[in-house]
Amino acid sequence: MRDSRFNVVIIGGGIVGLGVGLAITRRFPALRLVVLEKEDWVARHQSGHNSGVIHSGVYYKPGSLKARLCVAGAAAMVKFCREHGIPHEVCGKVIVAAESEELARLEQLRQRGEANGLTGLRLIGPEELREIEPHVRGIKALFVPSTGIADYAAVCRKYAEIIAARGGTLLTSAVVTGIRRIGAEITVETSRGEFATTSLINCAGLFSDRVARMAGDDPDVLIVPFRGEYYGLVPERASLVRSLIYPVPDPRFPFLGVHFTRRINGKIDAGPNAVLALAREGYRHRDINLRDLSQSLAFAGFWRMASRHWRNAVGEFRRSLSKPLFVRALQRLVPEVREQDLIAGGSGVRAQALKRDGALVDDFHFVPSGKVLHVLNVPSPAATASLAIGETIVETAARALDLA
Ligand SMILES: Cc1cc2nc3c(=O)[nH]c(=O)nc-3n(C[C@H](O)[C@H](O)[C@H](O)COP(=O)(O)OP(=O)(O)OC[C@H]3O[C@@H](n4cnc5c(N)ncnc54)[C@H](O)[C@@H]3O)c2cc1C
Repeated sequence: MRDSRFNVVIIGGGIVGLGVGLAITRRFPALRLVVLEKEDWVARHQSGHNSGVIHSGVYYKPGSLKARLCVAGAAAMVKFCREHGIPHEVCGKVIVAAESEELARLEQLRQRGEANGLTGLRLIGPEELREIEPHVRGIKALFVPSTGIADYAAVCRKYAEIIAARGGTLLTSAVVTGIRRIGAEITVETSRGEFATTSLINCAGLFSDRVARMAGDDPDVLIVPFRGEYYGLVPERASLVRSLIYPVPDPRFPFLGVHFTRRINGKIDAGPNAVLALAREGYRHRDINLRDLSQSLAFAGFWRMASRHWRNAVGEFRRSLSKPLFVRALQRLVPEVREQDLIAGGSGVRAQALKRDGALVDDFHFVPSGKVLHVLNVPSPAATASLAIGETIVETAARALDLA
């Protein structure tokens, strides 16, 4: 593969990079395309370590990319799964107000969802809530019928299979180490040789800001890793949860609060929390990467974020170390759940872009630079939205990247 020439190089074999590859190979089948992935297979990071929820689009600001691409992407995801025999289910979910102070925010969510074009949203009282989820305690809830669950690792495998069937190349164990841009020619240096291309799309997830810097661009954001830790309900207590049970989220943060999720394999997960990780791929407490850490500490926005949110960060950290505190958060939704019902589960690390002013980037964030496009913020619901993200990038970037 050394010194191969391509029309398009995509860095990152997660659901976003593969979604973009899928859209490009559909629209421009004659282009030579390669997806470069540093791991030995696709979906080894965020795309294979998430909650597996097909989000409906109820949370996001009307008109934002997240809102538009989530709603369109959810419908496309359900259709894709159905067409390709990928395990999925549209099971609906409840967002539960446990206290009266949360009622106004619940109503705002309903209005947001309707503004985003969702149908069938219903505010329900405690009796109807108990009919849907018999073990939940709440004074009111928002029922969202279009939310679903899917196996996103299987979705990624299918995206990769289709890209290959259309003539695209997926090269795994190919770590991108450098990018040179001379005139119209872009050379991507990897652990498996160099690749020449005329256009480049950076979908490197937790490393997308670093890849942008490799390409000579200033991304103006820092990717901050937030670990999400899960517990699993023991099988004998799985009946406490029928499908998806969420709290009313705190609007100051882009995370949804610990919740219960039924997986497509029938297991029930509780979580994820949102703990600042000390390494970009820091799946465990003891994972510390000095380069990642020092880069965060050297970024002015990091200290601004810390001064604004330190109280919440400490709370998340304590809850991460203390099972009783984690259980207490879950008992706000399902009072019957007890410490012995939960066993340690997996974790995932979210790539969240942070601005210099200390604000967490809320919307999806794509930054063009000549014939290079950097995908710099695609947190949840980007797995749901991956097909729509791919189509949007192809629409908007086809001319700029010279794909047409
Ligand atoms: C805990 C958690 C729960 C979530 N729950 C949901 C959910 O229920 N529903 C939903 O829609 N979304 C959810 N998300 C969000 C969703 O998983 C992500 O938005 C999505 O997976 C992002 O995809 P990606 O392709 O950008 O990133 P990734 O999957 O991280 O892919 C990026 C890829 O780039 C590769 N890469 C990085 N650097 C290099 C390099 N130098 N050279 C070559 N390759 C490189 C990495 O190895 C990686 O495979 C969740 C995320 C987490 C972490």
